[in-house]
Amino acid sequence: MEKISYINQTSNKKAHGFQFRTINKVIDSITTTEGAGFIVHRPFPTNIFSDIDPFLLLDEMGPMNLKPGEARGAPDHPHRGFETVTYMLSGYFEHKDSEGNSGKLNPGDVQWMTAGSGVLHSEMPAKDITEKSGVLHGLQLWVNLPKKDKMIKPYYQDIRSSEIPLVQLPKGKGQIKVIAGKFNDTYSVINTKIPILYFHTILEPGTKVEVPVNTEYNAFVYVLTGEGKFEDSENKEEKVTKGQMVIFNKDGDSIKIIASENKKDTLQLLLIAGKPINEPIARYGPFVMNTKQEIYQAIEDYRSGKMGIINH
Ligand code: FE
Repeated sequence: MEKISYINQTSNKKAHGFQFRTINKVIDSITTTEGAGFIVHRPFPTNIFSDIDPFLLLDEMGPMNLKPGEARGAPDHPHRGFETVTYMLSGYFEHKDSEGNSGKLNPGDVQWMTAGSGVLHSEMPAKDITEKSGVLHGLQLWVNLPKKDKMIKPYYQDIRSSEIPLVQLPKGKGQIKVIAGKFNDTYSVINTKIPILYFHTILEPGTKVEVPVNTEYNAFVYVLTGEGKFEDSENKEEKVTKGQMVIFNKDGDSIKIIASENKKDTLQLLLIAGKPINEPIARYGPFVMNTKQEIYQAIEDYRSGKMGIINH
């Protein structure tokens, strides 16, 4: 049994030695379209936050209830200078790239792609979705790379749902999927270039959980379903719900999540945190570098075919 930080109503900060982080801001995601026209909910970048160092973007794709022929994806496009992390919740995606790699993402699978110096890929709903009807629901996170890693050779970590470590809370109160980083003694199978936490947290109504987060890390939560609140709002009415992102101040070493009582939806959220890179960011669409000059170079390399082509 994993050691977990599970607390009851009478716990307080001092008894545990934790200092819970306070909320900096709650943001509503915007709804926009991506690729060939699929709907995404995007907490950032928007005109409120351009990035949350080291994170550059978070998109929730769907959930979309698709009829045959309605599914849209992201046909051939390049990336350079960062990592794209795709996490499927429902439905199937197929990817293909200029290095000759291809594969299929099933529900619960994670693909951590380190684009490095550049890769062309396509991300399309699989035939299961395009030909039949089905629900497509997934997430994409963009993680920046430090200057020293921006031009490394591209590589993937393709992780099946069954390989992702799962921490069960006592009494069936919920679970935490450790996609990146570590939760107490449970370590992810994915290796990251910079220290990152990526947890999919599922909590039954009324459950509280404390998640340790290094004091140096920037941290945020994105709510997928249900309703919850956080330590500093425990005695306030402010509740956070589906499609909202909470950005925390760096004033503590853990985050206390409280799932609302008497809700039939479980509280599902992503808790994402990482050590800031603190380097200049120059970004243009799918290229994220440190200077404008490097962006021009990326565009030039893409146009001249240096990032390769995809054989369909
Ligand atoms: Fe992409």
